[in-house]
Amino acid sequence: MRVLKFGGSSLASVARFLEVAAIVRSQPQTEPVGLVLSAPHGVTNLLVELTDLAFLGTGYQDALNGWRQRLQKMRADAAAVLGNEAQQRLQAVLAAQDATLSNRRQGVELLHYCPDHIKAQLLGLGEQFSVALMAELLLAQQVKAVLLDSVQCVKSQGDYLNAVADVPASEIALGAAVKKQPAQVYVLAGFVSSNTQGELCLLGRNGSDYSAAIVAAALRASVCEIWTDVDGVYSADPRQVKNAKLIDHLSYDEAMELSYFGAKVLHPKTIGPLARYQIPCYIKKYRDWE
Ligand code: ASP
Ligand code: MG
Repeated sequence: MRVLKFGGSSLASVARFLEVAAIVRSQPQTEPVGLVLSAPHGVTNLLVELTDLAFLGTGYQDALNGWRQRLQKMRADAAAVLGNEAQQRLQAVLAAQDATLSNRRQGVELLHYCPDHIKAQLLGLGEQFSVALMAELLLAQQVKAVLLDSVQCVKSQGDYLNAVADVPASEIALGAAVKKQPAQVYVLAGFVSSNTQGELCLLGRNGSDYSAAIVAAALRASVCEIWTDVDGVYSADPRQVKNAKLIDHLSYDEAMELSYFGAKVLHPKTIGPLARYQIPCYIKKYRDWE
C-alpha cells in the first residue's frame, strides 16, 4: 500500500478533484493506494463558524448558506462527469449531511451550548463529503475504488476534538476492512476517527496529515506522501527569511522538531506514527497555484 494525502487547496473545486484523480490514476499499479483527503478548502472553517454561533440561535445563517452553496455547486459541477445513479448517491450524501446539520443545530440552540462530541460530528462533515465525491469520480473513470469509513477504521483515544492515534486498534480495523474489499484505491476521510466506544473523534485542526500517518503506520505502507502546495520543508519560514533553503532529507526527529517549533508543512503529530513504524514520508508539490 502507498498512502497519498491531499489537502483542502487541492480539493477546492471539482476541477481540482479531477486533477487529484488523475494523479491517483497515474500511480504504479503494483500496490494499492490509500487515498486520504481533507475537506474542500474553506469548508471546515464554515462549519466551525456555524457550530460556534449555533448556540445563539442566530447569526449562523451565512455560514450555513455558504456551506450549502459550496457543496451544491460542487455536486452540480460533478454532474458533467457522473452518471445518474452516482449523482443521486451524492445528492443523498448531501441531504443526509444537511439533515444532520439541521438537527444538531436545533439541539444546540435549545441547549444554548455545543458539546464537543456534537461539534466533532459537525466539523468532520467536509472530509466525508470529499471522499464521497472522490469515490464517485474514480468509479466513473473505471478505477476500482472503495470507500473505507474512517469513523470505523481509524481509531483514536482522548479528546473529541483533538484525539491521539491508536495505531494497534486502527491496524485491526483497517486490516479487516481492506481484506474484505480488495481494491486498487481505498478512499479515506482525513481528520475523523473514533474512540473505543465508537464515538466520532477529530484528530485536531489540520489533522488529515496525521490521519495519513495513522493509515500508513497501521497498514505498514511502503510510503506516505503528503501532496501539498508548497515545495517541502525549508530551513526557516521562507516568507520571513530570504535565503531559507529547501531541505532535501530530514530525520524523523528533525522533522518532529521543526513542526513542533512551527513549520506548517506537516501537522506536528504526523511524524510519531511514521517514525515508530519507519515509514518514509515524502512532501510532494501538487502544482504551482496560479
Ligand atoms: N479539514 C480539517 C481542517 O481544516 C483537517 C485538514 O484539512 O487537515 O482543519
Ligand atoms: Mg494541511
